[in-house]
Amino acid sequence: MSKGSAMPTAYYLLDKHARAASAFWDHSMTCVRPVAVCPVNSQHLIGGRRNRRNRGLRILLPRQRHYDTYWTQYSECVLTERLKGLMEDASITGVEFEPVRVAGSYKPPRYPDPEEVLPPPDQPPSLWELRNVGWGGLVAGSSRISIKERCPGCGRETWEALSDGGIDIDSSAPPHEDIFMLWPMPVSIFVSKRVADLLKKHRITGAVCRPLTDITIKRGDGYAPGKLEYWMSHEAAKAREDAMSLRRERHLPRH
Ligand SMILES: [Zn+2]
Repeated sequence: MSKGSAMPTAYYLLDKHARAASAFWDHSMTCVRPVAVCPVNSQHLIGGRRNRRNRGLRILLPRQRHYDTYWTQYSECVLTERLKGLMEDASITGVEFEPVRVAGSYKPPRYPDPEEVLPPPDQPPSLWELRNVGWGGLVAGSSRISIKERCPGCGRETWEALSDGGIDIDSSAPPHEDIFMLWPMPVSIFVSKRVADLLKKHRITGAVCRPLTDITIKRGDGYAPGKLEYWMSHEAAKAREDAMSLRRERHLPRH
């Protein structure tokens, strides 16, 4: 394969199906603990969005239609007992599962006010949050997504695409897990072909696997991932930070 030829379609973005109704956070779950603010910039909430709830997601399900996967307004992926079992049987790696409580339901498409929340379905499905614990490292330099700023007060990072392009994975350091995170896109769930094939074979609803080769990014697209330890344990963040630090230099803009 010559340099510059298309990467094989081995990786995918696991994403919400455009026509699937969202699940929403149960109203009582937000802001469960005080949020610390960065000493340099009061717009920076230390810990980021995921620090605003405890583990143990509680959601409102859409009425009428059932799916194999549900996505919250913050792009958390929730899946059924059946899909969890399929993934476990296939020994899919890079994922942990945490139980999700169905606290109520709502009529799509509108985000419900607290007084509009309906009771949970009579027999709510057993649901699990997909926790992405795999690691794919830094997006490849060929993607030209560059670090723009790291806040001296809290370490929060912002990144920016310097040109039109795609999301490339460094072929010299491919991800070892089936489900993985790429920096600086910690919310996005990237998956291997094994996962894409599994979901297709079992006609999983509510989600799509989009080949990375179909995904485009535009010059000026911004990313505000926060910092690594918002997304993983302190120890994991430290190890990955050290491993990335040399490669990260290559992403710094040249002056
Ligand atoms: Zn800050």
